[in-house]
Amino acid sequence: MEQLNSKLHNRADLHVHTTASDGLLQPAQVVQLASRLGLSAIAITDHDTTAGVAEAQEEGNRLGIRIVPGVEISTAINGSEIHILGYGIKLEDAVLQSRLQEQRNARSKRNEIIIGNLNKMGIAITLEDVHMEAANADHDSQTGSKDDKRKSIGRPHIAAVLVKRGIVKTIREAFDEYLAAGAAAYAAVPRITPFEAIDWIRDAGGVSVIAHPGLYHNDRLVEELLQKGGALGIEAYHSDHDTEAERRYSQLAQVYNVLITGGSDYHGERAEGSYHGALGSKSADIAIVEKLMQG
Ligand code: AMP
Ligand code: ZN
Ligand code: FE
Ligand code: FE
Repeated sequence: MEQLNSKLHNRADLHVHTTASDGLLQPAQVVQLASRLGLSAIAITDHDTTAGVAEAQEEGNRLGIRIVPGVEISTAINGSEIHILGYGIKLEDAVLQSRLQEQRNARSKRNEIIIGNLNKMGIAITLEDVHMEAANADHDSQTGSKDDKRKSIGRPHIAAVLVKRGIVKTIREAFDEYLAAGAAAYAAVPRITPFEAIDWIRDAGGVSVIAHPGLYHNDRLVEELLQKGGALGIEAYHSDHDTEAERRYSQLAQVYNVLITGGSDYHGERAEGSYHGALGSKSADIAIVEKLMQG
């Protein structure tokens, strides 16, 4: 299986979602795809959960591809949503796991409010429909139970139900019409700040990286997260960054002497296209993996 001549040999895609959150491939399936593409490593970075990591590591051991344990924590500050990546965290850390459970509880509350808003608009979907949608993608993986509290349910699952019901034609339309910030059924609940997320990751022995900084349009905050927050890296290479953003954030990382990372933010392919990027389309050199694992 190993493809030593692949362009992706010695490359690591450090931002990948699975069915443990809103990805479409199960953890083992993502690893199989990464192996076929010739990637040397991937990080599993599901939203507010590490539930996909163990299955990915098992498959990684089988196929000879390195799996970096990771997480992408949803935070908010001054009304904008900021994502903080954590790598090399101790999965069995009880404090981290209960903190992530709190994050998923906040998501559940938000999902219920969104569904309530949709109901008020005459769209009769239930929380049960949304949980079924998340479980269906996942039926034969380790995170497959519909009641698995470690799974992270999000807006893409609500969007998929709206598509299946024929309320909208595409996931994109579901976000544009109903689910995106400011759209008709949108709701936000209190979240931790990105500074707290950096502390959580440090407490769990991990390395924190500012995810897709180009999406925030707030480089002052990015600098504060490095300077005062103590973030240890910047995701300069991401599917939603252009070459100017890659250059700008690589430079900023050099100024603050932090790691430069990269990842596709792969969520799987849909008929309408993939929202972020294809697996392996953004990556970092394999040498960075050791640094992310050192904590
Ligand atoms: P949540 O984590 O529940 O707040 O949902 C946010 C997720 O929705 C992000 O991880 C994105 O990948 C996904 N997302 C946001 N906007 C869109 C869109 N227009 N189309 C598809 N997916 C989206
Ligand atoms: Zn996502
Ligand atoms: Fe993100
Ligand atoms: Fe992501």
